[in-house]
Amino acid sequence: MDKTILEAAQTELMRHSWDTFVSDSPRPGVKGSVVPGCPACRKILYSDNQYLSHLAVDVLPGILEKAMERS
Ligand SMILES: [Zn+2]
Repeated sequence: MDKTILEAAQTELMRHSWDTFVSDSPRPGVKGSVVPGCPACRKILYSDNQYLSHLAVDVLPGILEKAMERS
């Protein structure tokens, strides 16, 4: 495999993590709450299973699309 494709895929993959972030404010003047999920995408994920689904469903298609464009 082309090394630059692999590096680009790894970089994209590593942007995502299962961590916590402060959610959007539900209404003006109210602070968002700390929620578990992917801070890069601001997507709420409650389990490692959901995190893996996030990678497979939201992240992988973009990585493959870029890889195929280059080849
Ligand atoms: Zn993400």
